Amino acid sequence: MIITGDALIGGQSVKGTGAAIRAYNPTRQELMEPEFFTVDFAQIDQACRLADEAFDTFRALSDEKRAVFLETIAEQIMALGDLLVERVMAESGLPRPRIEGERGRTVGQLKLFANLLREGSWNDVRIDKALPDRTPPRPDLRLRMIGLGPVAVFAASNFPLAFSVAGGDTASALAAGCPVVLKAHPSHPGTSELVGRAIVKALELCGLPAGVFALINGSGNAIGQELVRHPAIKAVGFTGSRFGGLALMAVAAARPEPIPVYAEMSSINPLFLMQHALAARAEEIAAGFAGSLVMGVGQLCTNPGLVVGLAGPELDRFANAAAQALAGGAACAMLSPGIAGNFKRGITQLSEHADVKTLALAPQAEGKGAPALFVTSGAAFLAQHALSEEIFGPASLVVACKDMAEMRRIAAGMEGQLTATLQVDDADLEAARELLPVLERKVGRILANGFPTGVEVASAMVHGGPFPSTSDGRSTSVGTGAITRFLRPVSYQNLPQALLPEVLRDNGTATWLRREGELTRNGQ
Ligand code: NAP
Repeated sequence: MIITGDALIGGQSVKGTGAAIRAYNPTRQELMEPEFFTVDFAQIDQACRLADEAFDTFRALSDEKRAVFLETIAEQIMALGDLLVERVMAESGLPRPRIEGERGRTVGQLKLFANLLREGSWNDVRIDKALPDRTPPRPDLRLRMIGLGPVAVFAASNFPLAFSVAGGDTASALAAGCPVVLKAHPSHPGTSELVGRAIVKALELCGLPAGVFALINGSGNAIGQELVRHPAIKAVGFTGSRFGGLALMAVAAARPEPIPVYAEMSSINPLFLMQHALAARAEEIAAGFAGSLVMGVGQLCTNPGLVVGLAGPELDRFANAAAQALAGGAACAMLSPGIAGNFKRGITQLSEHADVKTLALAPQAEGKGAPALFVTSGAAFLAQHALSEEIFGPASLVVACKDMAEMRRIAAGMEGQLTATLQVDDADLEAARELLPVLERKVGRILANGFPTGVEVASAMVHGGPFPSTSDGRSTSVGTGAITRFLRPVSYQNLPQALLPEVLRDNGTATWLRREGELTRNGQ
């Protein structure tokens, strides 16, 4: 398979008519071949219309057929072999083990949603049978979920596979029966085309309408905004900057028919170091923290960008050990010159800040990011919002609080986060219990004695949280719960059996159903 630089619309290779985009190899610091051409508005219109036309056929497929489609995408991604791995490595600067792991995760996500479809609970079938003798009589009511319609997905820069073309947003939207029009990220267009072709091939092999998936290229905001504006698009999935997410939310809200935007944006993932845990294992916690901070050159949405503890000798032990582990860290290629530039600006601002002391600053290099660790006081942190802004990369800020009340104030004043982590021993449980209700209000996932990087793909995972970690804290973008973002309920009142969707009929295929408020497995 060769990379052509084309968009994929209606199952065909289509040359964009707009400006050329070239991928950039951040390790070699050079532009790559071939050129990818920005699509025009007519091509966006075509992709969205085809998605709309394919929607009814696609959502009417049996759960089994959609499951097989997802598994076929997984097989086609694996069949790309080293061609894909090497292109991702070249476009991202990320090492082979990370890319192979991310590919496994991407394929695993597709299989997880295939299993969810077969298990059937996603339909959320509820049946309240008619009560004709009741006064007043109750009608027959039956509910199931259906897909929202075509979804616009924006690939993320920092996970070229797992949060991109066939990533979690695409997998959950397709599982929900929603066609996807995907905007490739301009920093990995070749990766995007290869994975896009794997999806197109899976559509062919499964005999499904070509409009179920399209891949478009573009850079400079206009293409993404036009896509979100298109009337056929009914929801948006996005992972990226706060600025980009907010811009797309504004576009979606200003449409004649506003639509939901599920944007994952910025999070600094605080660690709260409880006093006894710190006293018992400051150095061990510091080692784990340093490892988590530099993972993926800090370009992970769950990167631990904030550490909160009580000022004193124990916190000093932690800070010294962490600084020692980080100070010698190598400068590694960042995903793009833009991300490297943002990182450089962020650490320069902190290192020059009057209320911030630099604990470690490994030698930096152009286009690269090396670890940085800073410390400030609880009072300074509380007084200056700028200190809590995300620095995307391997940098973190330690906040030394004067007492637990100040630590709780910091937790209460935080913006919404994807995660919060407690380092906690048995003797800390009382203090942790007081912090817990505050954290529940602020974050989507609370961890004990671990580190936030490494997001398990599982049913009970929440990768989401209150604004600005996401635009809608009621959902998750990882795990089976992600499908609910692209579904809505339809209730059928007194419909004859012959008109009911198959899953809702008396002898239907619902495996899990809610009958009269009771959750049962069919036939039990
Ligand atoms: P980005 O600039 O938000 O871009 C993500 C996608 O959204 C791209 O396809 C981009 O396309 C589009 N986009 C951005 N702004 C837009 C706008 N105003 N209107 C329409 N489309 C828009 O994110 P990025 O390139 O991945 O990285 C930039 C910064 O985002 C990083 O330095 C970091 O601070 C942050 N980031 C955070 C996370 C996280 O998980 N917390 C992940 C990735 C990035 P265009 O080509 O049209 O710009």
